[in-house]
Amino acid sequence: MTTQLGVPLREYTTLRLGGPAGTFVTATDAGEIVDAVTSAAAPLLVLGGGSNLVIGDDGFDGTVVRIASRGYAVDDDGLLTVEAGEDWDEVVARTVADGYGGLECLSGIPGLVGATPVQNVGAYGVEIADLLHGVDLLDRASGAVRTVPRDGLGLGYRTSTLKNTDAAVVLRVRLRLRSDGLSMPVRYGELARALGVEPGERVPAVAARSVVLELRRGKGMVLDATDNDTWSAGSFFTNPVLSDAVLPGVLDAIAARLGPDVAVPRYPAAAGTTKLSAAWLIERAGFHRGHPGPGGRAALSGKHTLALTNRGSASTEDLLALAREVAGGVRAAFGVDLHPEPVLVNCAL
Ligand SMILES: Cc1cc2nc3c(=O)[nH]c(=O)nc-3n(C[C@H](O)[C@H](O)[C@H](O)COP(=O)(O)OP(=O)(O)OC[C@H]3O[C@@H](n4cnc5c(N)ncnc54)[C@H](O)[C@@H]3O)c2cc1C
Repeated sequence: MTTQLGVPLREYTTLRLGGPAGTFVTATDAGEIVDAVTSAAAPLLVLGGGSNLVIGDDGFDGTVVRIASRGYAVDDDGLLTVEAGEDWDEVVARTVADGYGGLECLSGIPGLVGATPVQNVGAYGVEIADLLHGVDLLDRASGAVRTVPRDGLGLGYRTSTLKNTDAAVVLRVRLRLRSDGLSMPVRYGELARALGVEPGERVPAVAARSVVLELRRGKGMVLDATDNDTWSAGSFFTNPVLSDAVLPGVLDAIAARLGPDVAVPRYPAAAGTTKLSAAWLIERAGFHRGHPGPGGRAALSGKHTLALTNRGSASTEDLLALAREVAGGVRAAFGVDLHPEPVLVNCAL
């Protein structure tokens, strides 16, 4: 375990934003994570790969515990046990290379394993909830290490009972893999088309991984230090989920602005709700790819309107000013509130 003072957090976030940490502890195994977290003076920030974090320009005047534990094992039944500090995409790549299926659609998502259940990461029609067996976590209230099954984590669309709370730290994750080397059923239309299969078919996991990575690169959703379009936290806003009571008014507002024949992309969500596309609403509200925020130091990605990016010299306030402009524009145009997907630390929209 190492402890440093005043570490600039911008060096640990994919947005390259965030002021200094009070105390910065790097914990390299589960025992060190438990020690670091239980002995830390409040407040505490658990840091994985920093790919879903927006940290304020004043930094974090508390203890940051950086998760750096390692360990990967698959048993004879295809149950993968992996420590929280492993790089997620390296794990996906390894399972696919070793002939296992299941994780291929989640290829290319930045960050570490321990954070994947926190927002129930998902892409191309698959969520971690589809594969998750359970986690071992440190319950901060009791100080106990507990094994929690998947159903005990309240996993939902980009959320869980772990998100936006300090209640627990994930130490390791267990995932159920497919031993036949085939992908999950291909549910996402764009992926099915690119693979040349019908929705619901399975393909070799290695083929699905390769196509997913290609699709993601085209959208700036694979990290590339030389491409500012990837200096982001991925999708900045979640897709809005509207109740049946609210939806007709929003559809009326969309029709009033875009004409009665406009086809609005919408997807069934939980009972009595419908999910709309945040990117579609942002674009129809008048924001184009590359749209610069005030001052131009932060901008929408040139490849995807849902990613807010640092063009090289942005501050967190620059990024948030852009986020406010976009969310305000969508609200004014369609009456829909967009909510941030990343975790905001010491800053607010
Ligand atoms: C280019 C890009 C593309 C992305 N694409 C996707 C995508 O397709 N789908 C998707 O779902 N997400 C996507 N994301 C978001 C992000 O990669 C995921 O949410 C990822 O799981 C975050 O992991 P991390 O280790 O970087 O977490 P961090 O950003 O370090 O932390 C995020 C939150 O989780 C908490 N946390 C981290 N580790 C632990 C732990 N071990 N125990 C408890 N809490 C913890 C942190 O305190 C923080 O609140 C993308 C991000 C980027 C930059």
